[in-house]
Amino acid sequence: MSNKKTVWHRGNEYLYAFQFGRLYTNTGVFINSEKKTAFMVDAPFGSYEFLKESLLRGVAVEALLITHGHWDHIGDAHLFKKDGAKVYAHGGDRMVIEDPSLCISYLGSDMGVAPCALDCVIGDDGRFQIAGMEVHIRSVPGHSPGSVIFYMERAGIAFVGDTLFRDGIGRSDLPEGNGKLLIAGIGEKILSLPDDTTIIPGHGPFTTVAHESRNNAYLR
Ligand SMILES: [Zn+2]
Ligand SMILES: [Zn+2]
Repeated sequence: MSNKKTVWHRGNEYLYAFQFGRLYTNTGVFINSEKKTAFMVDAPFGSYEFLKESLLRGVAVEALLITHGHWDHIGDAHLFKKDGAKVYAHGGDRMVIEDPSLCISYLGSDMGVAPCALDCVIGDDGRFQIAGMEVHIRSVPGHSPGSVIFYMERAGIAFVGDTLFRDGIGRSDLPEGNGKLLIAGIGEKILSLPDDTTIIPGHGPFTTVAHESRNNAYLR
């Protein structure tokens, strides 16, 4: 499964989205084709082998940005790290990424996820430069305590993990979920982005800020 889409392109810079794993997790890959540098957004099972043998051949992945610590977003994180990618995630999900056995209590399994130590524990809001692209972080807890979105203003794209879906929102019934916080965070941190921002959710079809502001029944 890969279902590659080019979601943005300017000069030597490309932003692609793929789907990997049993839950068809949307995965972002930013590449500077001249400098041969890249970063990833999420690393589901199957993403490493596929990308290393195709798009990322000869390319240095500088960073892996994790939207949140659920197994379907981090299965191959340790493989990218072993290759030298710096792993970024919010402190609220740090424990479960570094010790997936913590999921056994509620999932009944660690889902086969290997532990992956973080290199950069990100805070609630901020921005950083990776591979020449500025990435804004905004925290939107409620699906998980450490859920964040990654917004690339220059590309007009936001990867929002499992906070918001096209015409839906993330589940908040998991341990440490919080529906009120989730809805408040979506309003404050996502719907405040420009109307024409493309939203790439953790699963399913892409959407826009304008579409969700007008049509999403969960956000009224
Ligand atoms: Zn999730
Ligand atoms: Zn997910």
